[in-house]
Amino acid sequence: MKYPKIRELAEAIKAVVHGPYTSRFPKEAHVPHPNFRGQPKFDESKCVGCCGCEEICPVEAIAHRDVVDDAGPPRRLMIHYTDTCIFCGECEAACIADNEGIKLSTDWELSFFDRKQSYETIEKELVLCEICGDPIACKDHLLWISERIGELAYSNPTLYLARLRALGIADENIVSALKDDWRSDRVKILCARCRRETTLTTAD
Ligand code: SF4
Ligand code: SF4
Repeated sequence: MKYPKIRELAEAIKAVVHGPYTSRFPKEAHVPHPNFRGQPKFDESKCVGCCGCEEICPVEAIAHRDVVDDAGPPRRLMIHYTDTCIFCGECEAACIADNEGIKLSTDWELSFFDRKQSYETIEKELVLCEICGDPIACKDHLLWISERIGELAYSNPTLYLARLRALGIADENIVSALKDDWRSDRVKILCARCRRETTLTTAD
């Protein structure tokens, strides 16, 4: 007869006293360990919509889509594809919003019937160029930059206007009242191309 090893015996006694190591899933909901690396989740209130996580993701599980239509204000959808993610945590590590715009969760139940539904999104308000209408950045991202660089933001009208408008103290009349062949357009929220054209070209 083969006798159990001492270690196995000790484990068996421990299991009798403290209960089994395995859970009774699916009869009972499984509670993962707090350090379990589950599905990353966006936090809409913390994310600034910079797309840094999209750049860093090794398997392209994060994407964004800029939406400009009549259904609402311009917005950026940040999309996380749960069927592609490998839960590596690179997105959280690279997140510029103090690693809190997207975070790994302990969510592990990711089964679904339709693969097309295996994604989650958040919406961030998008700022458009006031001349051509192209997307510039998310409003929160502009504010994030202006907060980081402090008074240097006042060297860039896109940044300081975004900040003044967020504070509710921008005087829109000053921007719209000036009509001096492109020069007034410099004091607007502009994309890089329109900013260059207001500076380097002369209107006919
Ligand atoms: S955990 Fe890794 S694979 Fe998943 S979205 Fe983040 S970076 Fe991409
Ligand atoms: S703030 Fe963080 S979560 Fe949001 S888009 Fe940027 S890197 Fe991704």
